Amino acid sequence: MKKRVLVIGGGASGIVAAIIAARHGATVSILEHQDKIGKKLLLTGNGKCNLTNLRLGLSNYVTTNQEDKDFINHALNAYSPQQVISFFHSIGLRTTVLRDSYVYPETEASASVVSVLLRELQKLHVEILTNQHVSSLSKKDKRICIISNKQTFFADSVIVACGGKSYPKTGSDGSGFDILRHMHLQYVEPYPALTSLICNHKGCKILSGMRNQAGVSILDSKHSVIAGDQGQIQFTDYGISGIPVFQVSSKIYPYLLKHNHARLTDLTARIDLFPYEEEEKLFLQLDRQLNDYHSFSFEEALSGFLHKKWIQFFSSQYSLSNKTGKEIKKSTIKQLAHDMKNLDFPIKELKGFDFCQVTGGGLELSELNHNFELKRYPSVFVTGELLNITGDCGGYNLHWAFLSGMIAGEKAAD
Ligand SMILES: Cc1cc2nc3c(=O)[nH]c(=O)nc-3n(C[C@H](O)[C@H](O)[C@H](O)COP(=O)(O)OP(=O)(O)OC[C@H]3O[C@@H](n4cnc5c(N)ncnc54)[C@H](O)[C@@H]3O)c2cc1C
Repeated sequence: MKKRVLVIGGGASGIVAAIIAARHGATVSILEHQDKIGKKLLLTGNGKCNLTNLRLGLSNYVTTNQEDKDFINHALNAYSPQQVISFFHSIGLRTTVLRDSYVYPETEASASVVSVLLRELQKLHVEILTNQHVSSLSKKDKRICIISNKQTFFADSVIVACGGKSYPKTGSDGSGFDILRHMHLQYVEPYPALTSLICNHKGCKILSGMRNQAGVSILDSKHSVIAGDQGQIQFTDYGISGIPVFQVSSKIYPYLLKHNHARLTDLTARIDLFPYEEEEKLFLQLDRQLNDYHSFSFEEALSGFLHKKWIQFFSSQYSLSNKTGKEIKKSTIKQLAHDMKNLDFPIKELKGFDFCQVTGGGLELSELNHNFELKRYPSVFVTGELLNITGDCGGYNLHWAFLSGMIAGEKAAD
């Protein structure tokens, strides 16, 4: 007899799970509380949808629990980036690889990803029921009873793919956590990840709008490095943003959870404006430029060395605006070189769920077997961002959503 599979949530993970379950012979329905499925997918990769990444490994994922590493490794080995690409080829999507390893649809349009997924769901007769807000599920004899705002459903298997809390306007409003709570499942409180940092620095106003190829590190109160990355950093009127900042932001809450005496406001984001330059060499270059143009003002002498907003920033930090090159002491130039590589932005807050790209925390992976099935509720599967794992920027989160959906979809239909 055909199995009846219900998928709660029509996002990246739920849609793929539904397709795979239907391909394995199940009768499948998606219950989605928005008026459409795939809303978040449309926003991904700045509208281009970074599907996966050819360079993918355990180090691209963060969890708050070190013991989860085996589970994650097992899952990553079960579905490689190539298999995700093959899946998309099998539904008629041509793909391309940009910057060596980042996989996108060849159209570079997330709308084509959503459209091929919708076409496949239609081809496989997967039923899509929208405006169905699921609030709970429970076991009734051998079946699973699912309660939505509109009706009660029964199924042989259920895949909970409700996403996290980021970008709630797309539908992932955290209600998946209510379902987990209702089932008395263990989960780590959700926290914002891949997000910008709100900082306490009076220079933010001057620097707003700047973009620099720079390094960023997160330091604890003893100045030990918690995380670091390099790339284009954006300076805003509230703090810092950009992909390297997103990457390091994901490591902040896991650190705070591990060190429960530590507070977010003890942490500092350190910017290195010249990550490829030794401090001593930078000092010599600065010294030479200020000497070459010794009769010019600090701002004029450093023109061409740094963007004028940065010159203005350092000039105000060191009160140098009325000084000429020759009036600036060697010790000040040394300090300038040091600060250009060690510019501290004390962290005040992380940009929250309305702005972050993914949700950290989520269902403890120890609740699942390798099929993404709940050990305590056989035939109920949980996938995607609702789980306590966060990928780096670069296609790693969609990869996780797809792979968990693929594994759960197949097993749910068996
Ligand atoms: C702006 C932005 C850009 C991103 N770009 C990328 C990228 O390029 N590459 C990448 O790898 N990752 C990217 N991500 C992350 C990626 O989109 C997510 O990790 C991924 O979509 C998670 O998939 P999911 O299926 O678990 O959840 P979602 O895609 O969030 O889907 C969850 C679905 O469940 C529905 N739902 C929730 N609760 C209920 C309920 N109670 N009842 C019924 N339905 C419910 C929601 O409406 C939604 O449709 C991006 C995220 C954002 C916000």
